[in-house]
Amino acid sequence: MNSIQKPIVIVGAGFAGMTFALNLKNLNPSLPILVVDSESNFVFKPLMYEVLSNEIRSWEATPKFANIFSDAGITFLRNCLTKISFKENILEFSDELKLSYQYLVICTGSIPNSFLIKGVDENCYFFNDFRDLKKLKSFLKNIQKTSFNKKLFIVGGGPSGVELACKVKDMFIDQFEINVIEKSNEILNRNKIFNREQAEQALEKRKINILLNATVKEVSETKISISNEFGITSLDKDIVIWTAGVKPNLSYLENNEITKKFGRILVNNNLQIENYKNCFAIGDISIIEGMEDLPITAQVAMQEGNHLAKNIELLIQGKDPLPFDFQDNGEMISLGIGEASISGLGVTLSGKLAFEARRLIYTSKLPDITESLKSASSWIFQKKSIFKKFLKKDNSI
Ligand SMILES: Cc1cc2nc3c(=O)[nH]c(=O)nc-3n(C[C@H](O)[C@H](O)[C@H](O)COP(=O)(O)OP(=O)(O)OC[C@H]3O[C@@H](n4cnc5c(N)ncnc54)[C@H](O)[C@@H]3O)c2cc1C
Repeated sequence: MNSIQKPIVIVGAGFAGMTFALNLKNLNPSLPILVVDSESNFVFKPLMYEVLSNEIRSWEATPKFANIFSDAGITFLRNCLTKISFKENILEFSDELKLSYQYLVICTGSIPNSFLIKGVDENCYFFNDFRDLKKLKSFLKNIQKTSFNKKLFIVGGGPSGVELACKVKDMFIDQFEINVIEKSNEILNRNKIFNREQAEQALEKRKINILLNATVKEVSETKISISNEFGITSLDKDIVIWTAGVKPNLSYLENNEITKKFGRILVNNNLQIENYKNCFAIGDISIIEGMEDLPITAQVAMQEGNHLAKNIELLIQGKDPLPFDFQDNGEMISLGIGEASISGLGVTLSGKLAFEARRLIYTSKLPDITESLKSASSWIFQKKSIFKKFLKKDNSI
């Protein structure tokens, strides 16, 4: 048994960090665990579309870290990590606080990637965190009174782009002409075929234009320039929402300090950072050697958090950690107000039933995370029996 003199420090309390901290506390209640996050609230990102459309209220999807962690007997500190001295095991924070650790878990998530395309940072809206959501919601609220057929471009035909397009169309039927720009030859090109087909139908039904094989060259205050096989076209725009990609949020790392792959921290299959065996990186910021194709999702982040909790407990007991193995539990996408598509666990489901199943599945994941959403969504539990087959106690999301 290895003795623990200093806390196990977790920086970033999103899907990966939250799952890790709560599971480790369950496995070993006496461990000193300190969770640090720069924000005061957890954001259940898959439900951000429903917050935008007022299908759920914002507080339901954003419980306070202080409540979650104090209920679990874990210390929470709100602070922003600015530097790690790996050799000395010291962390530095924005208010100059310094902390030392015995084990460190970093999981600071993703930020939008504008790929240095001219005008994107200045002239686009994003949809990656709660600040983005509030900004977009306020824009939509203001424009609502005066608009008709305003030109809305959504860049990126992945899940975020498609889900947003359907939701916004259902919220403002005639107010926006919506165009989804995708650089490959199909939308949702990394998703399940069933969900892709459902999404294509949902977009067609809503008369949302899809521009395939098209890339954005520049976004100005009034125009968007798009390149395709016919050349570059500059189009008038009222709003552009950028969902074309994310990059790891690693501003606290110095260049070449640790090994990276595709910009993300390279970890071995025990989720350890090379050369620093007491340091781990999980969730969107990391990539596992030999498992480079894993999607950047909450499902992966939660499974990694769960697995790492077991590994840390093994290490503390003086045993060897076990390799991580990903289990694909399927995927769910929302497709407008009251509709969704689900594919996984041998089941496919679409439409209103899928929407209710999706909400129920998320709600079933939340009891560990938040009491608020559980109580606010109690109506959905009445339908629990219909969806029993989806309700595996796992980390699908
Ligand atoms: C709109 C949207 C919808 C999505 N829908 C789905 C879905 O349906 N299914 C799915 O599987 N995935 C979905 N995802 C992806 C999923 O949300 C991410 O993959 C997941 O959040 C990654 O978990 P994480 O713990 O790595 O990062 P996050 O959950 O983003 O958490 C990172 C945490 O780190 C904190 N942090 C960042 N920097 C610092 C710092 N310097 N110091 C201290 N704290 C810091 C942040 O405040 C945050 O709390 C969606 C993403 C978005 C944006």
